[in-house]
This record gives sequence, C-alpha cells and structure tokens, in this order.
Amino acid sequence: MTIIIKVYGIVQGVGFRPTIARHAKALNVTGTIANKGPYVEIIASGSKEILDAFVKKIKKEPPRRAEIIKMDVRKSEERSFDAFSIITSKKTKGPIFIPPDIATCEECTKELFDPHNRRYLHPFINCTSCGPRLTILEGLPYDRERTSMKEFPMCDTCAKEYHDPSSRRYDAQPVCCNDCGPEVYLLDTDIKGREAIIEARIALSEGKIVAIKGIGGFHLACDARNEESVMRLRTRKHRPTKPFAVMAKDLETAKGFCEIDDVQEKIMTGHRKPICLLPKKEGLAKSVAPGNPFIGVMLPYAPLQMLLFQYNDGITTPDVLVMTSANDSGAPITHNDEEARKELSSLSDLILSHNRKIRVRCDDSVLDFDEGQPYMIRRSRGYAPLPYMMSKSFRGDVLAIGGELKNTFCVGKDELFYPSSYIGDLSDIRSIDSLKETSRLMCELLETNIQVVACDLHPLYHSREVAESLGKPVVYVQHHYAHILSCMAENDTFETVLGASFDGTGYGEDGTIWGGEIMLCDLDGYKRLTSIKPFLQVGGDASSKEGWRIAVSQILSLYDDPDRIIEALDLCDAKTLKFQKMMHERKINTVVSTSAGRLFDSISAILGLKKASSFEGEASMALEYAAMQGVHEVPKTITNHEYIATDALTAYIIEERLAGRDVHELAYEFHILLARMISEALLAYSQKTKIKTIALSGGVFQNTLLLDEVKKILKHSHCKVLTHHLVPCNDGGIALGQAVYASNALSKGRI
Ligand code: ZN
Ligand code: ZN
Ligand code: FE
Repeated sequence: MTIIIKVYGIVQGVGFRPTIARHAKALNVTGTIANKGPYVEIIASGSKEILDAFVKKIKKEPPRRAEIIKMDVRKSEERSFDAFSIITSKKTKGPIFIPPDIATCEECTKELFDPHNRRYLHPFINCTSCGPRLTILEGLPYDRERTSMKEFPMCDTCAKEYHDPSSRRYDAQPVCCNDCGPEVYLLDTDIKGREAIIEARIALSEGKIVAIKGIGGFHLACDARNEESVMRLRTRKHRPTKPFAVMAKDLETAKGFCEIDDVQEKIMTGHRKPICLLPKKEGLAKSVAPGNPFIGVMLPYAPLQMLLFQYNDGITTPDVLVMTSANDSGAPITHNDEEARKELSSLSDLILSHNRKIRVRCDDSVLDFDEGQPYMIRRSRGYAPLPYMMSKSFRGDVLAIGGELKNTFCVGKDELFYPSSYIGDLSDIRSIDSLKETSRLMCELLETNIQVVACDLHPLYHSREVAESLGKPVVYVQHHYAHILSCMAENDTFETVLGASFDGTGYGEDGTIWGGEIMLCDLDGYKRLTSIKPFLQVGGDASSKEGWRIAVSQILSLYDDPDRIIEALDLCDAKTLKFQKMMHERKINTVVSTSAGRLFDSISAILGLKKASSFEGEASMALEYAAMQGVHEVPKTITNHEYIATDALTAYIIEERLAGRDVHELAYEFHILLARMISEALLAYSQKTKIKTIALSGGVFQNTLLLDEVKKILKHSHCKVLTHHLVPCNDGGIALGQAVYASNALSKGRI
C-alpha cells in the first residue's frame, strides 16, 4: 500500500529528511520525502506491517532537535517507487513554526574546549542543532537579517560553513566565531573578552555576586556552596526564603547534591535544559532553598555559562552556582544593558554582559515531575513558542491575554495554539509593557490578523485593560473555566468533561472569590456544580498572604468559644483577635471565598507550620512537605453535603491538633481527606451526568500528593482523568484555555 505522511513542527534545518530516508532504507520502505515549507511530506510505499513500523519509527526516532507537533497519515492511491529518495518540491503556504532556543549541543561543547578548534573558548559557539532562536528573532522567515546577528557580518570562513550543505553549520542563522561574533564585556568598564570572563570567574570564586547575561535575560549568580554569599544575595534581593535555582557544572556534580532518576537525567542533559525540581541531598549552602526538600537544578545551556565553570586561566571556580533570574522585584527578567544598569547595579558586584541583543525575554522553564513524568511549573525557554495542534477544527486568529499572575499569553491561528514564554506578574507596569511588546511581536511573527481577544473576567485586572486597549472584540472567560479548558486543550480532548479547578484566587461570576470549583465544561460554556464550602476571607489583600487570618475567620464561624481555640493554636494575640472579630462581624474588608489555596494556608497556620507566606505558595508548600513526612493509613472519611465539606475537615484537623496529634500525620490526613472529598463530589456528578472524563487543573494541583490521590480514586472508579503535562496547571496555563474558548466562539460565528 501507499500512504502520505505530513509531518508538522520544527522539521526544517534539523536534518529531518536524511534521518527519515535512513529509516526508510532500514525498513525497505520506498517513496519520497520533500520539504514543503510548513511541513515535510513523505510518500511511502510498502506492506501494511512495514508502513506501521515506519510511522512508529518516525515518531520514536526523529532527529534529535526536531519537534514533531503533528503527523497526518493518509492512505493514497497505489504508487510504486524504485527506492526512497529526497526530492525538492514547491513550497506551500501553511502554519508557521518558530523554533525555541536550544541548549549548546555536545559537538559544539567539544569544540568549545578543543584548543585546536577555531572556536576554542568562543562564548557564542552554536550550530544547526543548537543556539538561540526565539530570543534573537525580529521577524520571519527565520534568516540572519531578521535576527540580532545581523549586526555581526560573518567572516569568510563562517560564511563558507553557513553555505556548505555538508557543514554542521549549514544554514545556522546565529553562526559566528572568535573573529566575527559578538563580544562579552564587564558593563561600564573597558574590560572585555577574555579579561572580562576571567574577572567574572575570580569574582565568583571569591564569593561575589555576578550578574550574567544569558540567552533570554540576565541571571544573578554566586557560589551555591558559600552560605555567606547566598545570604548576601538574599539580603540584597529582599528575598528571605523563596528557593533559588542552581546551575551545576555537570551531571556528576548535580548528582552529588540531589537525586536524579533516568527520566530526569535525560531531560537535564537534553536540548532544552529546564530547571528540574529534584530531591535534595547535602552539599549546598542551607539558604539556597531553606526548609525545602527539593532543589531546582539545571545544567549550563549557553557557552558563556560553560566558560564560567571551566576556562584556561588556572583559576578554580565554584562547581555549582545559584542562578536566579535577575530582575527588580515584580519586573520582568532584565534583558538589556540599560535595564541591567538600573536594576542590577545594587544587587551585583559585577555585570558580565555582551552585545548580542535579546529580542524576546525568556525565563528558564521550571519542570516538576509527577509519577515519573514531567509536570510543568513554568513553560518558557526551550518550550515556548512551540504550538499545540488541535485535531478539532478551529478557524480564525485569536489572541488570549492570560491571567494577572505568572502571565503568559497565547496566539491561536486556526487549529494551532502558541503559548508564549513567561511574562511575569502584571502588578508591575514593566511586566504590562513586556506583555504588550511581546504579544505584538509574536502576532507579527505569526502573521496574525487578530479577530478577537480573550481575557479574564476580573474587572480590575491589568490584563483586561491590555485586552480592551487593542481595539478588537473582547471575550471574557471565567478564570477557573479557563483552567479546565487549558487542560482539555493540552490533552486535545473537547468532549464535555467534569472539571475540578482548584487554585488560589479567581473572580467568580457572582462577584465573590472562587478557587475550589467543581464544574461541568465544554467549549461552549460551563456550569458551576459545587465548590468547597464558602468562607469569609477577612483582612483584604493581607489575607491572601497571611493564612492565620483565614484560620481565625474559619474558627470564628465554626465555634461558639473561638477565643480559647485561637489562643491554644497561637494564631494571634488578643488585641489582633478583637480587631479580626470586629471585621468578621461587620463584614468589613471581607469577601466570601471558596479559594482552595487559602484553605491550605489556613491549615498550615493551624498546624503551626507557616502562619504567613513571604512568597506565593510558601505556606501550602510547607504543608505538603510536612505531609510527605506523615504518610500513614487514614481510615477516617468526611462526607460532603451541598458543598465539599471543608468546614468539617478544618474542624477535624483543629480538634486532632488540640488533642496533641502529630503535625506531619495531620498534614497528610488533610491531603488525603480533601482528595477523597473532591473525588466524592466528582464521582457523584459523574453518576448523575454519566460523564466519565474528568479534568484536574488550577495551581493547587501543583501539589502532587493531592493530585496523585485524586487521580488514584478517579481511575479506580474507571474515569478518564485529564491532567496537565507541559502546560502549567497554574495561572501560567490559562491563556491556552482562553484562546480555545475565543477560537471556538469565532469558529461558530458567535463573534
Ligand atoms: Zn551545536
Ligand atoms: Zn567567523
Ligand atoms: Fe488560577
């Protein structure tokens, strides 16, 4: 038989056609392969078994840097070929794929440290399979004239390699060498090139803080084994406890201070090199990630980073560095010298910069793991802006602006959806500017003619203002519904689902705060079925960081003798309590809330783990880590009534705590009981509606202890469970949900 295979994705300039031709020959498949521009077209002939094996092999063994977004396999009329050959054919118009940045490859790393190579120690070495892409892009098609490299004309030798099809650097846009490439320097000094690198290395070895320009922005770096250095960085950044990520010299070094399994090792050493959250062992300064059993670790992904660990100057530098995104608090990652001067001079002792411009900011991606598989926390460098292709038909161009925290946006073009790199929290005007600027550039690159803009329903969000300023029709998508849609879209599943959308905060249709929602969802809309039991969130903005306020408020509603309990749990002093009571009674500075995130904060305070958070999620993380130490059989169950009975759950935890039970055990019981209650609610509606597909989304499901327990129960009841994988379950993922909603409405002619 004969089939036509269309392969969409990053399949150009990555050696795709020769690899597939090799697979074909190995399997005795005959036919042709041609580059059509937006996709590669393969016509293959052979027996059914052989063709099945061939398709499988393409999927399983593509060239290392290729990204297959979709494969379209169709039967064709019978044709016969003598052999398998690569042919040239006319380019067609079609979807656009912007390559993400790729970590320095093994061959380039070898050359970097080979004294006989002409790119020996060149801080910008790259090739067809590695180097910056998205971050240096000014326009499409992806050619040197439309990248930051246009300012660096190639020398004759580089030009020869660039034009030679047999070279590793054939058609590699950022190609350069020591003679023609960009240059590093210490900002606002005359020190550059080799001397600048040596100065930075000396500074790091002396425990100083160095700002380093990377691929998508600056990092602040210091010796991660030097407690004093790390503390100095904390003091300067006004960041008392939020964990720092580290960069280890190599895999062996990383294995010395954290545990790495096979899946994780493959990702750590792969071509994206995200920050991986790994179980921590001894060896690093305590204040790198205080009170946290995990550590965010990555390996060097840019040549300049490698040179800081290894150079020919006889100096020994630290083998593991704190590598935290450099930015003024709230602002997006610092990405040029002007910003570095303003924002980093007071934070660092030295600024190591270079003259290759960063066009698109791109933070490091952060990856957690769930049941041995990647579970994205922040999708950015190496992943953005790879699109998701839906098998359902969508028509038209949309822009989804995303949420207010951890903002990302998403461009939708027909059935392709391109989630952006990480922008940041929109409480800072600089992040809003970055959102406007980056979304404009992405729409341009993707040749988008926006027909509709989607944003969150919240009347006070800056994201909504941005959406409304674009002069296009705007659709408003409820926050928790957008979470579920995002999970559906990532799984390319658009049947009606039951969703559990659990997070910190989102604006509800009724003007209250939502955040622990059970919903019935499809692309056309949702119904709120139930939620966790509403409670009073007393104390305005402060209550979202100070879990003790939620705890006090819950206790005031639950008990006739609250004072005794609040005192016994040491939640606040008598004077503060009087004030809280007054606000609670008169409903001043108070809002009705079903936020699951706040419930976690409250329990964390009740168990004496964290009364308040210095960064988002601190208290709930402390609760999860405590639970991991208290694993045991839990015979207890709590039955839901109209709502998920979180009031009864809180009361149970309080009473057990006051009876002197172990805090870790109670933390664990809270997770298990809550998971059972969420599952019970979902299964009750599943029985009623006969819907067996259930989506789990929202930032609370970053908590894999809760996630795994809910999953286990639902699967036990034969439900199909949709969870996130490479799109974050937190607010960094909602833009995708907003985008499919808008696109569906547009496709159906509602806009
Ligand atoms: Zn390379
Ligand atoms: Zn050159
Ligand atoms: Fe959310």
